[in-house]
Amino acid sequence: MFKTVIEIGEINKCQSLLLENLKNNLYLSGKFNIGFPGGSWTETIQYNEDIWFLHHEIGGEEKSPRFWNGFGLVQELSSNKSNNIVVEINIPTNGINRKVAGFYAKNESGEIGLFHRGGLGGGRKGIGKQAFLSWSSYELTSVSTNSAKESAILVGLIESDDFTVKLHDFLINIANFKQLATTGEINEATFISDDELWERICTENPKRKSPKKTTTETVGYERSEFVKEYALRHANGKCQLCNNAGPFATKSGRNFLEVHHIDWLSKGGLDMPENVVGLCPNCHRKMHNINDAKDIKKLKSAVVILKSH
Ligand SMILES: [Zn+2]
Ligand SMILES: [Zn+2]
Repeated sequence: MFKTVIEIGEINKCQSLLLENLKNNLYLSGKFNIGFPGGSWTETIQYNEDIWFLHHEIGGEEKSPRFWNGFGLVQELSSNKSNNIVVEINIPTNGINRKVAGFYAKNESGEIGLFHRGGLGGGRKGIGKQAFLSWSSYELTSVSTNSAKESAILVGLIESDDFTVKLHDFLINIANFKQLATTGEINEATFISDDELWERICTENPKRKSPKKTTTETVGYERSEFVKEYALRHANGKCQLCNNAGPFATKSGRNFLEVHHIDWLSKGGLDMPENVVGLCPNCHRKMHNINDAKDIKKLKSAVVILKSH
């Protein structure tokens, strides 16, 4: 069982061990622009090929004095932009402060773990600890603090050789999770139980009112009827991704297909024969949802060009 490290001198020692491990493994350093809520500053960070690290001690004049430990992913690190911190694992410099996400805890064999309480919402409704745990494969580890117990995510043992590997996994998981939350693919509703889901529907609309009207502004692009006809004619009733026939015959007797621009119009793609294919609705949705590189390749090779123009 892990026990939370709460004594000021011991926390200090743990933080020094963390810094030492990171110093040994993140053997590069350089100046980069790092983004914080409310601005960005040029900071000297330590990094390797996977992760970067920045730390500060936020002193006693603050409401919650803490060791501020910020981590990011090197795959996204750039000298031309402000770089976002993926996660902060801050540690109160003394005692217990559950508003700060991180803490150290020691087990019977004297191993010291770096823990994160799992709150990752950054203010986003419902995107918190439970959602992250349901989505990721992380499990909570119980930790005792004096007589109380709590559970948190064990990021890694700070003196072990695989610590930075574990930390990298943690960062990748958080980054992917935040990405899905940002695109709306996972949200407040995704991970709740069936009962709670039903409950939320009932409390949200107890009088079964019809939905309110909404207006959305969408940007569209002009498309040529001739290019569309070209794509449909060459698809000849069969989806150019899955090769199945269009799912039904339209009133005009043609197998229903949708015209898709391989390089999206919204990203500067052209409305020209070399960029259009006919897709069944499922495959069309698939392209707009995941736009898989293999599928793109297949569609590019399926395009028929009659003449150069
Ligand atoms: Zn298809
Ligand atoms: Zn499309």
